[in-house]
Amino acid sequence: MNVGVLALQGAVAEHIRSIESCGAKGTIVKRTEQLDELDGLIIPGGESTTIGKLMRTYGFIEAVKAFSEQGKPIFGTCAGLIVLAERIVGEPAAHLGLLDVTVARNAFGRQRESFEIDLEMKDWNRPVRAVFIRAPLIESAGPDVDVLASYKDGIVAVRQGHLLGASFHPELTDDNSMHAYFIEMIRQYSA
Ligand code: GLN
Repeated sequence: MNVGVLALQGAVAEHIRSIESCGAKGTIVKRTEQLDELDGLIIPGGESTTIGKLMRTYGFIEAVKAFSEQGKPIFGTCAGLIVLAERIVGEPAAHLGLLDVTVARNAFGRQRESFEIDLEMKDWNRPVRAVFIRAPLIESAGPDVDVLASYKDGIVAVRQGHLLGASFHPELTDDNSMHAYFIEMIRQYSA
């Protein structure tokens, strides 16, 4: 199984390490042609405005939408979640606009720019270690979106069919369970 990490900007190497710890092949993706070889794609954390702009410049907006239309799983983490979202609070337009959620950027304010917690996941038998860095919150989610985790008043992990989103960085700890979950999604969708 070949899982790509979009490598235009942001935390790429750590995702590759997490994918490989789960026994799949991790591919650094810089060109749209590479998408053809992939079974799933991760859009990493970083800066969503920058990632969105670079995606437009290099043709990734249309290419990733086509990838999604084939039913291939996509996992957006932090800025990657913002890039996947249909609605971004205070911004006129979405980037990919695939995931039926409204996200608020930098939702935790300056006092708590970054923190790490054990996050309870719905239907999982143990929590996930989650690192939040200038993280977004999901303010609302459409009817087809399954909420996987919430923190305080906001939603922080969701799934909508073949799309997975998390407002935290699952790649920055040794806990690979979110990656293992994504790889299991890919297995289901490629079966
Ligand atoms: N604050 C960033 C944004 O709005 C996301 C931060 C991150 O990915 N760690 O794009």
